[in-house]
Amino acid sequence: MKIAKSLQQIQPSYIREILAAAQTQGVISLAGGLPDGESFPLDLMEDSLNTLAASPQLFQYGHTAGYAPLLDYFKQTEQQPGHHSAIVCTGSQQALDLIARAFLNPNDIVVMEAPSYLGALQVFGLAQANVQSIQQRADGPDLAQLEAKFATGEVVMFYAVPDFHNPTGVCWSLEVRQKVAQLCIQYNVTLIEDVPYRELRFNGQALPLTSSFCPDNSLVLRSFSKIATPGIRLGLLTGKTDWINPLIKVKQSSDLHSSVPMQAVLLDLLKHPNFDKHLAKLRDLYQKRYLALTEQLSQKLPAGCQFNTVDGGMFIWLTVPDCNTYQLAQAAIDNNVAVVPSAVFYQQGETVEPALRLNFTNASESELATAVDRLVTAINESCKP
Ligand code: PMP
Repeated sequence: MKIAKSLQQIQPSYIREILAAAQTQGVISLAGGLPDGESFPLDLMEDSLNTLAASPQLFQYGHTAGYAPLLDYFKQTEQQPGHHSAIVCTGSQQALDLIARAFLNPNDIVVMEAPSYLGALQVFGLAQANVQSIQQRADGPDLAQLEAKFATGEVVMFYAVPDFHNPTGVCWSLEVRQKVAQLCIQYNVTLIEDVPYRELRFNGQALPLTSSFCPDNSLVLRSFSKIATPGIRLGLLTGKTDWINPLIKVKQSSDLHSSVPMQAVLLDLLKHPNFDKHLAKLRDLYQKRYLALTEQLSQKLPAGCQFNTVDGGMFIWLTVPDCNTYQLAQAAIDNNVAVVPSAVFYQQGETVEPALRLNFTNASESELATAVDRLVTAINESCKP
Protein backbone atom coordinates (compact mmCIF):
# COMPACT_ATOMS: atom_id res chain seq x y z
CA MET A 1 0.00 0.00 0.00
CA LYS A 2 1.28 3.51 -0.84
CA ILE A 3 1.51 6.22 1.79
CA ALA A 4 -0.99 9.04 1.19
CA LYS A 5 0.42 12.03 -0.72
CA SER A 6 -0.41 14.35 2.17
CA LEU A 7 1.82 12.30 4.47
CA GLN A 8 4.66 11.93 1.97
CA GLN A 9 5.38 15.65 2.18
CA ILE A 10 5.79 15.62 5.97
CA GLN A 11 9.47 15.51 6.89
CA PRO A 12 10.67 12.80 9.29
CA SER A 13 10.75 14.34 12.72
CA TYR A 14 14.33 15.24 13.56
CA ILE A 15 13.11 16.20 17.00
CA ARG A 16 12.10 12.59 17.67
CA GLU A 17 15.68 11.52 16.93
CA ILE A 18 17.00 14.11 19.36
CA LEU A 19 14.52 13.06 22.02
CA ALA A 20 15.57 9.41 21.56
CA ALA A 21 19.23 10.40 21.96
CA ALA A 22 18.26 12.52 24.97
CA GLN A 23 17.08 9.39 26.78
CA THR A 24 20.56 7.86 26.68
CA GLN A 25 22.00 7.45 30.13
CA GLY A 26 24.16 10.37 31.21
CA VAL A 27 22.58 12.85 28.78
CA ILE A 28 20.95 15.91 30.37
CA SER A 29 18.01 16.93 28.24
CA LEU A 30 17.01 20.52 27.59
CA ALA A 31 15.40 19.27 24.39
CA GLY A 32 11.90 18.04 25.19
CA GLY A 33 8.87 20.05 26.19
CA LEU A 34 8.39 17.97 29.29
CA PRO A 35 6.93 19.28 32.53
CA ASP A 36 8.65 18.19 35.74
CA GLY A 37 7.45 14.64 36.45
CA GLU A 38 8.05 14.90 40.18
CA SER A 39 5.58 17.81 40.33
CA PHE A 40 2.65 15.87 38.89
CA PRO A 41 -0.23 16.45 41.35
CA LEU A 42 -0.74 12.72 41.87
CA ASP A 43 -1.32 13.26 45.59
CA LEU A 44 -4.28 15.52 44.75
CA MET A 45 -5.55 12.96 42.24
CA GLU A 46 -5.10 9.95 44.52
CA ASP A 47 -8.59 9.81 46.10
CA SER A 48 -10.21 10.31 42.75
CA LEU A 49 -8.08 7.61 41.10
CA ASN A 50 -8.69 5.19 43.97
CA THR A 51 -12.47 5.52 43.76
CA LEU A 52 -12.76 5.14 39.99
CA ALA A 53 -13.55 1.42 40.26
CA ALA A 54 -16.61 2.30 42.35
CA SER A 55 -18.05 4.28 39.39
CA PRO A 56 -18.46 1.73 36.59
CA GLN A 57 -20.71 4.16 34.63
CA LEU A 58 -17.60 6.25 33.92
CA PHE A 59 -16.25 3.32 31.91
CA GLN A 60 -19.24 3.22 29.54
CA TYR A 61 -19.19 5.05 26.16
CA GLY A 62 -19.59 8.78 26.75
CA HIS A 63 -20.65 11.95 24.90
CA THR A 64 -18.37 13.20 22.12
CA ALA A 65 -18.39 16.80 23.41
CA GLY A 66 -17.15 15.68 26.81
CA TYR A 67 -18.12 14.50 30.30
CA ALA A 68 -21.16 16.66 31.20
CA PRO A 69 -20.08 17.62 34.76
CA LEU A 70 -16.68 18.75 33.40
CA LEU A 71 -18.33 20.81 30.64
CA ASP A 72 -20.66 22.35 33.26
CA TYR A 73 -17.64 23.25 35.39
CA PHE A 74 -15.98 25.02 32.44
CA LYS A 75 -19.22 26.84 31.63
CA GLN A 76 -19.24 28.28 35.13
CA THR A 77 -15.53 29.10 35.39
CA GLU A 78 -14.81 30.28 31.83
CA GLN A 79 -17.79 32.64 31.50
CA GLN A 80 -18.49 31.72 27.89
CA PRO A 81 -21.02 33.88 26.01
CA GLY A 82 -24.43 32.19 25.53
CA HIS A 83 -23.80 31.37 21.86
CA HIS A 84 -20.42 29.74 22.61
CA SER A 85 -19.69 26.20 23.76
CA ALA A 86 -16.84 23.77 24.39
CA ILE A 87 -15.56 20.37 23.42
CA VAL A 88 -13.15 18.27 25.48
CA CYS A 89 -10.31 16.97 23.30
CA THR A 90 -7.61 14.34 23.59
CA GLY A 91 -4.97 16.98 24.31
CA SER A 92 -4.89 20.34 22.55
CA GLN A 93 -2.99 18.55 19.78
CA GLN A 94 -6.23 16.82 18.82
CA ALA A 95 -8.02 20.17 18.90
CA LEU A 96 -5.62 21.43 16.22
CA ASP A 97 -6.20 18.36 14.09
CA LEU A 98 -10.00 18.67 14.40
CA ILE A 99 -9.86 22.34 13.39
CA ALA A 100 -7.78 21.55 10.32
CA ARG A 101 -10.11 18.75 9.28
CA ALA A 102 -13.31 20.70 9.92
CA PHE A 103 -12.34 24.04 8.38
CA LEU A 104 -9.45 23.71 5.92
CA ASN A 105 -9.36 22.70 2.28
CA PRO A 106 -6.07 21.99 0.47
CA ASN A 107 -4.21 25.24 -0.37
CA ASP A 108 -6.19 27.36 2.11
CA ILE A 109 -3.92 29.97 3.65
CA VAL A 110 -2.97 29.64 7.31
CA VAL A 111 -0.70 32.31 8.80
CA MET A 112 1.70 31.53 11.63
CA GLU A 113 4.58 33.26 13.35
CA ALA A 114 8.05 31.93 12.49
CA PRO A 115 9.50 30.06 14.27
CA SER A 116 6.42 27.97 15.04
CA TYR A 117 5.12 25.11 17.14
CA LEU A 118 6.21 21.97 15.31
CA GLY A 119 3.00 20.04 16.04
CA ALA A 120 0.94 22.79 14.39
CA LEU A 121 3.23 22.84 11.35
CA GLN A 122 2.66 19.09 11.03
CA VAL A 123 -1.14 19.31 11.37
CA PHE A 124 -1.46 22.11 8.82
CA GLY A 125 1.02 20.32 6.54
CA LEU A 126 -1.07 17.12 6.65
CA ALA A 127 -4.14 19.20 5.85
CA GLN A 128 -2.21 20.44 2.77
CA ALA A 129 -2.77 24.03 3.83
CA ASN A 130 -0.67 26.83 2.38
CA VAL A 131 1.18 27.87 5.54
CA GLN A 132 2.59 31.40 5.34
CA SER A 133 4.89 32.81 7.99
CA ILE A 134 5.40 36.22 9.45
CA GLN A 135 8.24 37.24 11.71
CA GLN A 136 7.94 37.22 15.47
CA ARG A 137 9.20 40.25 17.43
CA ALA A 138 9.94 40.52 21.16
CA ASP A 139 6.30 41.38 21.97
CA GLY A 140 4.44 39.35 19.34
CA PRO A 141 3.98 39.06 15.59
CA ASP A 142 5.21 41.74 13.17
CA LEU A 143 1.92 43.63 12.80
CA ALA A 144 2.74 45.25 9.45
CA GLN A 145 3.50 41.84 7.92
CA LEU A 146 0.38 40.41 9.50
CA GLU A 147 -1.86 43.14 8.12
CA ALA A 148 -0.28 42.82 4.66
CA LYS A 149 -1.15 39.11 4.62
CA PHE A 150 -4.66 39.69 5.96
CA ALA A 151 -5.27 42.49 3.44
CA THR A 152 -5.01 39.99 0.55
CA GLY A 153 -8.44 38.78 1.70
CA GLU A 154 -7.26 35.18 1.28
CA VAL A 155 -6.22 34.21 4.81
CA VAL A 156 -8.51 31.69 6.51
CA MET A 157 -6.79 31.33 9.88
CA PHE A 158 -4.09 32.87 12.02
CA TYR A 159 -2.60 30.25 14.37
CA ALA A 160 -0.91 31.79 17.42
CA VAL A 161 0.60 30.94 20.82
CA PRO A 162 0.45 34.36 22.55
CA ASP A 163 1.38 33.17 26.07
CA PHE A 164 4.99 31.94 26.37
CA HIS A 165 5.40 30.70 22.84
CA ASN A 166 6.87 27.34 21.87
CA PRO A 167 9.75 27.54 20.89
CA THR A 168 10.69 31.15 21.81
CA GLY A 169 8.94 31.88 25.13
CA VAL A 170 7.66 35.23 23.73
CA CYS A 171 4.53 36.64 25.40
CA TRP A 172 2.45 39.12 23.39
CA SER A 173 1.93 42.60 24.88
CA LEU A 174 -1.57 43.89 25.58
CA GLU A 175 -1.34 46.32 22.65
CA VAL A 176 -0.41 43.53 20.26
CA ARG A 177 -3.32 41.40 21.51
CA GLN A 178 -5.76 44.25 20.91
CA LYS A 179 -4.36 45.04 17.46
CA VAL A 180 -4.35 41.40 16.31
CA ALA A 181 -7.97 41.03 17.45
CA GLN A 182 -8.93 44.21 15.59
CA LEU A 183 -7.22 42.91 12.41
CA CYS A 184 -8.97 39.54 12.69
CA ILE A 185 -12.34 41.30 12.88
CA GLN A 186 -11.50 43.80 10.12
CA TYR A 187 -10.33 41.14 7.65
CA ASN A 188 -12.60 38.31 8.84
CA VAL A 189 -9.76 35.96 9.77
CA THR A 190 -10.24 33.28 12.44
CA LEU A 191 -7.73 33.39 15.28
CA ILE A 192 -6.68 29.97 16.58
CA GLU A 193 -5.38 30.90 20.04
CA ASP A 194 -3.36 28.03 21.53
CA VAL A 195 -2.50 28.66 25.20
CA PRO A 196 -1.00 25.53 26.83
CA TYR A 197 1.55 27.60 28.81
CA ARG A 198 -0.79 30.39 29.95
CA GLU A 199 -0.98 29.24 33.59
CA LEU A 200 2.82 29.00 33.87
CA ARG A 201 3.34 32.75 34.44
CA PHE A 202 6.04 33.40 37.05
CA ASN A 203 4.75 36.73 38.40
CA GLY A 204 1.76 39.03 38.19
CA GLN A 205 -1.57 38.78 36.45
CA ALA A 206 -2.23 37.03 33.15
CA LEU A 207 -2.85 39.35 30.21
CA PRO A 208 -6.32 39.03 28.66
CA LEU A 209 -6.68 36.35 26.01
CA THR A 210 -6.41 37.85 22.52
CA SER A 211 -9.69 36.12 21.75
CA SER A 212 -11.40 38.10 24.52
CA PHE A 213 -11.17 41.10 22.13
CA CYS A 214 -12.58 39.13 19.17
CA PRO A 215 -14.60 36.26 20.69
CA ASP A 216 -16.66 35.55 17.58
CA ASN A 217 -13.55 35.38 15.38
CA SER A 218 -11.67 32.90 17.58
CA LEU A 219 -11.23 29.33 18.66
CA VAL A 220 -9.30 28.84 21.92
CA LEU A 221 -7.25 25.75 22.74
CA ARG A 222 -6.43 24.97 26.36
CA SER A 223 -4.33 22.08 27.59
CA PHE A 224 -4.16 20.27 30.92
CA SER A 225 -0.81 18.69 30.06
CA LYS A 226 1.30 21.31 31.79
CA ILE A 227 -0.87 22.00 34.85
CA ALA A 228 -2.08 18.42 35.50
CA THR A 229 -0.16 15.75 33.55
CA PRO A 230 0.39 15.17 29.80
CA GLY A 231 -0.51 11.48 30.14
CA ILE A 232 -4.19 12.15 30.87
CA ARG A 233 -4.33 13.60 27.31
CA LEU A 234 -6.98 16.24 27.89
CA GLY A 235 -7.53 19.67 26.41
CA LEU A 236 -10.44 22.03 25.84
CA LEU A 237 -11.56 23.78 22.66
CA THR A 238 -13.99 26.71 22.93
CA GLY A 239 -15.68 29.01 20.45
CA LYS A 240 -18.96 29.79 18.75
CA THR A 241 -21.41 26.87 18.98
CA ASP A 242 -21.80 27.12 15.17
CA TRP A 243 -18.13 26.15 14.92
CA ILE A 244 -18.06 23.67 17.81
CA ASN A 245 -20.84 21.57 16.25
CA PRO A 246 -18.86 20.58 13.13
CA LEU A 247 -15.84 19.94 15.36
CA ILE A 248 -17.92 17.49 17.41
CA LYS A 249 -18.84 15.72 14.17
CA VAL A 250 -15.16 15.35 13.22
CA LYS A 251 -14.20 14.17 16.70
CA GLN A 252 -16.92 11.56 16.56
CA SER A 253 -15.31 10.06 13.46
CA SER A 254 -11.87 10.34 15.04
CA ASP A 255 -12.16 8.76 18.51
CA LEU A 256 -15.85 8.97 19.60
CA HIS A 257 -14.83 10.76 22.80
CA SER A 258 -11.90 11.39 25.14
CA SER A 259 -11.39 9.15 28.16
CA VAL A 260 -14.33 9.65 30.55
CA PRO A 261 -12.55 8.27 33.65
CA MET A 262 -9.70 10.73 33.08
CA GLN A 263 -12.17 13.61 32.58
CA ALA A 264 -13.75 12.73 35.95
CA VAL A 265 -10.31 12.70 37.58
CA LEU A 266 -9.45 16.05 35.97
CA LEU A 267 -12.68 17.59 37.27
CA ASP A 268 -11.88 16.47 40.82
CA LEU A 269 -8.37 17.85 40.45
CA LEU A 270 -9.52 21.27 39.21
CA LYS A 271 -11.98 21.50 42.11
CA HIS A 272 -9.48 20.28 44.70
CA PRO A 273 -8.96 22.91 47.46
CA ASN A 274 -5.17 22.56 47.06
CA PHE A 275 -5.06 22.85 43.26
CA ASP A 276 -4.13 26.55 43.38
CA LYS A 277 -1.30 25.73 45.77
CA HIS A 278 -0.06 23.10 43.32
CA LEU A 279 -0.02 25.72 40.54
CA ALA A 280 1.80 28.22 42.74
CA LYS A 281 4.45 25.61 43.60
CA LEU A 282 4.88 24.68 39.96
CA ARG A 283 5.34 28.31 38.89
CA ASP A 284 7.84 28.86 41.67
CA LEU A 285 9.85 25.75 40.75
CA TYR A 286 9.94 26.68 37.07
CA GLN A 287 10.94 30.26 37.83
CA LYS A 288 13.82 29.05 40.01
CA ARG A 289 15.00 26.72 37.25
CA TYR A 290 14.67 29.48 34.63
CA LEU A 291 16.74 31.83 36.82
CA ALA A 292 19.34 29.11 37.44
CA LEU A 293 19.67 28.39 33.71
CA THR A 294 19.89 32.03 32.65
CA GLU A 295 22.35 32.91 35.41
CA GLN A 296 24.65 30.12 34.24
CA LEU A 297 24.27 31.16 30.61
CA SER A 298 25.02 34.82 31.45
CA GLN A 299 28.22 33.81 33.19
CA LYS A 300 29.48 31.28 30.68
CA LEU A 301 28.25 31.95 27.14
CA PRO A 302 30.82 33.12 24.59
CA ALA A 303 30.41 36.64 23.17
CA GLY A 304 27.74 36.99 20.50
CA CYS A 305 25.35 34.38 21.91
CA GLN A 306 22.13 35.85 23.29
CA PHE A 307 18.99 34.60 24.97
CA ASN A 308 15.64 36.27 25.62
CA THR A 309 14.18 36.84 29.07
CA VAL A 310 10.76 35.26 29.64
CA ASP A 311 8.02 35.68 32.26
CA GLY A 312 6.83 32.09 32.20
CA GLY A 313 6.38 28.97 30.14
CA MET A 314 8.99 26.29 29.57
CA PHE A 315 11.48 27.57 26.98
CA ILE A 316 14.07 30.18 26.11
CA TRP A 317 15.57 30.87 22.68
CA LEU A 318 19.34 31.06 22.52
CA THR A 319 20.73 32.68 19.38
CA VAL A 320 24.14 31.43 18.30
CA PRO A 321 25.33 33.61 15.39
CA ASP A 322 27.26 32.20 12.44
CA CYS A 323 26.67 28.62 13.47
CA ASN A 324 25.23 25.51 11.85
CA THR A 325 22.85 24.61 14.66
CA TYR A 326 22.27 21.03 13.44
CA GLN A 327 26.00 20.43 13.84
CA LEU A 328 25.93 22.23 17.17
CA ALA A 329 23.02 20.07 18.43
CA GLN A 330 24.98 16.97 17.39
CA ALA A 331 28.12 18.25 19.14
CA ALA A 332 25.99 18.92 22.21
CA ILE A 333 24.61 15.35 22.20
CA ASP A 334 28.17 14.03 21.82
CA ASN A 335 28.90 16.11 24.90
CA ASN A 336 25.92 14.64 26.80
CA VAL A 337 23.47 17.53 26.62
CA ALA A 338 20.43 17.54 24.32
CA VAL A 339 19.03 20.74 22.75
CA VAL A 340 16.83 21.44 19.71
CA PRO A 341 18.24 23.34 16.70
CA SER A 342 16.05 26.19 15.46
CA ALA A 343 15.60 24.88 11.91
CA VAL A 344 13.06 22.26 13.00
CA PHE A 345 10.66 25.07 13.94
CA TYR A 346 10.60 26.56 10.43
CA GLN A 347 9.13 25.43 7.16
CA GLN A 348 11.52 24.30 4.45
CA GLY A 349 12.97 27.19 2.49
CA GLU A 350 12.39 29.79 5.20
CA THR A 351 15.14 31.98 6.60
CA VAL A 352 16.22 30.30 9.81
CA GLU A 353 17.61 32.26 12.73
CA PRO A 354 20.63 30.31 14.06
CA ALA A 355 19.41 29.43 17.53
CA LEU A 356 18.59 26.65 19.98
CA ARG A 357 15.43 26.01 21.99
CA LEU A 358 16.29 25.32 25.61
CA ASN A 359 13.76 23.79 28.00
CA PHE A 360 14.22 24.62 31.69
CA THR A 361 11.42 22.67 33.38
CA ASN A 362 12.67 19.11 33.32
CA ALA A 363 16.18 19.32 34.79
CA SER A 364 17.22 20.22 38.34
CA GLU A 365 19.22 23.37 39.06
CA SER A 366 22.45 21.42 39.40
CA GLU A 367 21.75 19.50 36.18
CA LEU A 368 21.10 22.82 34.44
CA ALA A 369 24.51 24.11 35.60
CA THR A 370 26.26 21.00 34.24
CA ALA A 371 24.20 21.22 31.03
CA VAL A 372 25.38 24.79 30.45
CA ASP A 373 29.04 23.78 30.92
CA ARG A 374 28.60 21.01 28.35
CA LEU A 375 26.69 23.23 25.94
CA VAL A 376 29.29 26.00 26.11
CA THR A 377 32.02 23.45 25.34
CA ALA A 378 29.99 22.28 22.32
CA ILE A 379 29.48 25.90 21.14
CA ASN A 380 33.20 26.65 21.47
CA GLU A 381 34.09 23.48 19.55
CA SER A 382 31.51 23.60 16.78
CA CYS A 383 30.89 27.33 16.17
CA LYS A 384 34.40 28.54 15.57
CA PRO A 385 34.39 31.73 13.42
N1 PMP B 1 0.31 23.55 21.44
C1 PMP B 1 1.55 23.89 21.80
C2 PMP B 1 2.03 25.27 21.53
C3 PMP B 1 2.38 22.95 22.43
O1 PMP B 1 3.63 23.32 22.79
C4 PMP B 1 1.89 21.65 22.68
C5 PMP B 1 2.74 20.57 23.28
N2 PMP B 1 3.56 20.90 24.25
C6 PMP B 1 0.58 21.35 22.30
C7 PMP B 1 -0.19 22.32 21.68
C8 PMP B 1 -0.02 19.99 22.52
O2 PMP B 1 -0.26 19.77 23.87
P1 PMP B 1 -1.23 18.64 24.43
O3 PMP B 1 -1.76 17.86 23.26
O4 PMP B 1 -0.41 17.82 25.34
O5 PMP B 1 -2.34 19.36 25.13
